[in-house]
Amino acid sequence: MKKWNLVIDVAKCNNCNNCFLADKDEHVDNDYPGYAAPQPRHGHRWIDIMRRERGRAPMVDIAYLPTLCNHCDDAPCVKASLDGAVYQRPDGIVIIDPQKAVGKREIVASCPYGAIGWNEEKNVAQKWIFDAHLLDQGWKEPRCAQVCPTGAMRSLKVGDSEMGKLAASEALEVLHPEFGAKPRIYYKNLYRFTQCFIGGSVAVERNGVIDCLEGARVTLGKTGARLAELKTDNYGDFKFDKLDKDSGSYTIGISHPDYGNKTVEVPLGESQYVGVIYLR
Ligand code: SF4
Ligand code: SF4
Repeated sequence: MKKWNLVIDVAKCNNCNNCFLADKDEHVDNDYPGYAAPQPRHGHRWIDIMRRERGRAPMVDIAYLPTLCNHCDDAPCVKASLDGAVYQRPDGIVIIDPQKAVGKREIVASCPYGAIGWNEEKNVAQKWIFDAHLLDQGWKEPRCAQVCPTGAMRSLKVGDSEMGKLAASEALEVLHPEFGAKPRIYYKNLYRFTQCFIGGSVAVERNGVIDCLEGARVTLGKTGARLAELKTDNYGDFKFDKLDKDSGSYTIGISHPDYGNKTVEVPLGESQYVGVIYLR
């Protein structure tokens, strides 16, 4: 049986919020019996864009992480619903029945991802429904993927084994795998949001002028092992990414055939720019 999955490329999301607005447009003031009661105009963010800033000037990057219901294959919300108020369809989409869920505020707490909100006016739990009402009419993708201008969102209806192969080949990850919920929202380049970098710049003094040093060899080491190696770019910059937060001390080694070498120890908490390192 093929199931719906959504792949989100964190590196392509620019926080335009088109996906959020399309979901609002679809659900505010609109009732879809069997799928979802109208979404409140304020307060609910069924598609919510999280933001994370890394580093410090002049080496800063910002990542945006769209979050929504993960339509989990082993969903705690479905397991907690003994009367069928929350259920998973054969195509993988998890639905909170807008009639059966009336008055059941406990459904909100059953999601470890915090993806379910409470609609005070309608007295019902709600979340993003993968636009199941549109897919059932023949739509090829949910509105969030349709309106995304950067191609950051991609929906696929495929079998589990095909999705597993795709996840492996594209290094896709899910949020909080430790929950054991088997989410079907996958993320590409998730490290931009979850991991850290060590960056810096290398410069030299030439004829009394400070100049960026392009092509210096920079190595990243930890407890005697070499983890990575690169060359500084034309601004003299280097950046080692995909490092774990609070992962201890790293050794940065810098060398250039004309300007010698230098070693710097960097204890890593959060992402950091170590500043300008001068070779002589
Ligand atoms: S529409 Fe695309 S680029 Fe814009 S916020 Fe949503 S995922 Fe990001
Ligand atoms: S993300 Fe939460 S609401 Fe959505 S299926 Fe998983 S457990 Fe249920």
